[in-house]
Amino acid sequence: MKPHRALNSLLAKAALRTDSGRKGWQARAAAVLPGGVNSPVRAWNGVGGDPVPIASAKGARITDASGRMYVDMVGSWGAGIAGHAHPHVVSAVKRAAAKGLSFGATTDGEVLLAERIRERYAPAERVRLVSTGTEATMTALRLARAATGRDVVVKFAGCYHGHADPFLVAAGSGLATAGVPDSAGVTASTAADTLVLPYGDEEALTAAFAEHGDSIAAVISEAAPANMGVVAPPAGFNALIASLCRNEGAVFILDEVLTGFRAGPAGYWGVERDAAASGIGPVWTPDLVTFGKVIGGGLPVAALGGRADLMEQLAPVGPVYQAGTLSGNPVAVAAGLATFDVMDAAAYERLADAADAVREGVTEALMAAGVTHAVGRAGTLFSFFLGLDKAPLTFEQVSAQDTKAFVSLFHHMRAKGVSLPPSAYEAWFVSLAHDEKTTRRVVDAASSWRP
Ligand SMILES: *Cc1c(COP(=O)(O)O)cnc(C)c1O
Repeated sequence: MKPHRALNSLLAKAALRTDSGRKGWQARAAAVLPGGVNSPVRAWNGVGGDPVPIASAKGARITDASGRMYVDMVGSWGAGIAGHAHPHVVSAVKRAAAKGLSFGATTDGEVLLAERIRERYAPAERVRLVSTGTEATMTALRLARAATGRDVVVKFAGCYHGHADPFLVAAGSGLATAGVPDSAGVTASTAADTLVLPYGDEEALTAAFAEHGDSIAAVISEAAPANMGVVAPPAGFNALIASLCRNEGAVFILDEVLTGFRAGPAGYWGVERDAAASGIGPVWTPDLVTFGKVIGGGLPVAALGGRADLMEQLAPVGPVYQAGTLSGNPVAVAAGLATFDVMDAAAYERLADAADAVREGVTEALMAAGVTHAVGRAGTLFSFFLGLDKAPLTFEQVSAQDTKAFVSLFHHMRAKGVSLPPSAYEAWFVSLAHDEKTTRRVVDAASSWRP
């Protein structure tokens, strides 16, 4: 580096460490990026204050532009399952990058990643790699509509399936935080083809099929809802969706973009499959399934998979068009493959231990402080609902939580060096890097909170 460049870079770094430097970045972000962000869940509208831009992250820790370090409980919204900058993942990415960034032709890595997904997740008989979860769910619905010749999609209030028009009706995640039931710019005719039901309501689902069965192309559901806080599916609910779809000629799209390879080694479907194998609950299979987040290990990879006869209706074999310039990008795929390497059976046990430690420790802390709360849990995913005394099932029940208390908890945890998701409607994410020391730090921080 030339001397003056080195000096400039030092000065820039020093400037970032000062409050005015940090505010400078926040102001610049807000002046050029709407809301200062490229995805609304990153904004602090739900908790107040201004997020400081992130400079770097390593393992379970994240460092902001002012040099403050936090235990990270966001983990790129679940994508960072192995921990930030895991050496095996980083070196795989470097090696892939050195071989070329993108070719516009199939690579061996894409075949390997699709095979990995199918090995762990048998219902994904065929796989198409895309770049975002939104593309995966959007394509799954197009495929379902083509295969059935029907228009209507059934979704559950509070479930988030990305930002394609048909799903922006009573969605969770950023929309739940903002309290926006719907998005401007979605046409009435699009919304009319989306039927929204309360989550977990077997009667409502059965009635919807009785009334609209002939026009229902698909039912889409998060395998376990995790975008309105974490909601455990009631026993047999996923199985009921599967059997109604089968009997009525509709397609069951299981959205595992968040839960896939996170709730357990075979997603939340795997959690229920294993339970069924030990005699708890029925065996069921989705027709189509969507993945994202974990399968890219922090780079943009998502996928849809499912029954071969459905998947083979995708172009170029069949009439359903779907494409992507950067689909199956070799560098992104390398990150996904390396993440699968790291996430072996022992790793999932460690992940479960970390999740248990935080969930149980924070629960005890809240109990000791006399804070009314409920815990939502699905495999290694969990969240807390302050002010509720019973784990909620529907979005309506979730919405009764005490979001003011969460705001207080959020800022307290931050002051204690723990970075929670900036919303009461999100899961708390652990990674492989969340060791005993780290999880104790989170629990200790929660222990000193008084609402
Ligand atoms: C994150 C998420 C999506 C959307 O994925 P993007 O990659 O953000 O487009 C879809 N479904 C669920 C369940 C998700 O959690």
